[in-house]
Amino acid sequence: MAVESGRCYACRREFDYDPAEVTTFLVDQMTGLPPGFTVAGTMRPATPEAVARSVDVPVCPDCVAKAERGLPFGPTIGP
Ligand SMILES: [Zn+2]
Repeated sequence: MAVESGRCYACRREFDYDPAEVTTFLVDQMTGLPPGFTVAGTMRPATPEAVARSVDVPVCPDCVAKAERGLPFGPTIGP
């Protein structure tokens, strides 16, 4: 079972994960947000260009649990 380490998309914590098991989030590399999200936090239809340049980034189990409970999670901005 291969274990990789990476930085959680939401909380920026480094953690080890199994690439086959980890939850990932599709993130547009240009904005740092999921395709379809704007910097202002509103939604718009994702453009094919945004999806094409997006990559999957891992999310740590803590943040997955928060998301499943409906709690806010996401990149923390500022201190
Ligand atoms: Zn996290």
